Amino acid sequence: MNNVSACCSLNSSHDGNRRTLLRATLGMAGIGAISGLGSLARSDAAYAQALTKEQRDGMTPDQVIDALKQGNERFRSGKPQAHNYLAQKQATAAGQYPAAVILSCIDSRAPAEIILDGRIGDAFNARIAGNIANDDLLGSMEFACAAAGAKVILVMGHTACGAVKGAIDGVELGHLTGLLNKIKPAVSATVYSGERTSKNAAFVDEVAKTNVLQTVANVRRQSNVLAGLERDGKIKIVGSMYHLVGGRVEFLT
Ligand SMILES: [Zn+2]
Repeated sequence: MNNVSACCSLNSSHDGNRRTLLRATLGMAGIGAISGLGSLARSDAAYAQALTKEQRDGMTPDQVIDALKQGNERFRSGKPQAHNYLAQKQATAAGQYPAAVILSCIDSRAPAEIILDGRIGDAFNARIAGNIANDDLLGSMEFACAAAGAKVILVMGHTACGAVKGAIDGVELGHLTGLLNKIKPAVSATVYSGERTSKNAAFVDEVAKTNVLQTVANVRRQSNVLAGLERDGKIKIVGSMYHLVGGRVEFLT
């Protein structure tokens, strides 16, 4: 059962659900066409509760990236879509067809779905301090793309990252030590002529940017599955930085 039929069966079997869905449709979209990535792709008209397989499969990686950019624009301009999470939950319960997988930091100020104004079911979300890629995360992303059909891997770092500061400072603490060791190559690789300490916000952000680019390179180098999908044009692997001040997701690659 795809998401369309899931919606239809809900409509026909539960008046409450039907009213909810109708209200969502009429209130936010009018009776309009459903376009690719639905609400992520459209800020003005069509609003669907979830991506269908046909919609997701019909998109190119570049179209998915454009939709993610448009979602961030809605978020930072203060005009996010009016989410009906209960309807989104119902529309995705029988199946998911996410268009992207986002690898981002655990920082509480950088919740990917919110800052990209996404719906339930739009994207897989992998979060780890410092947005690095280890074997388990590579496996998760291979599942997301090769098995579940996502078209884009978005690595998203952010400004003022505590994990990056910890790597710069050489913090050692339990299991955190090994995680920060995976960020340290970005510290030494960052070309920066000013003060190279965690007290210097500009340096911290430059290291975070280097770390994103290194993660993108590591994904390609360490995963033959993902590198092959990208070579075949089926996915794109891109890096980005989320700016805590201003709310912009800056695409780096
Ligand atoms: Zn962080």
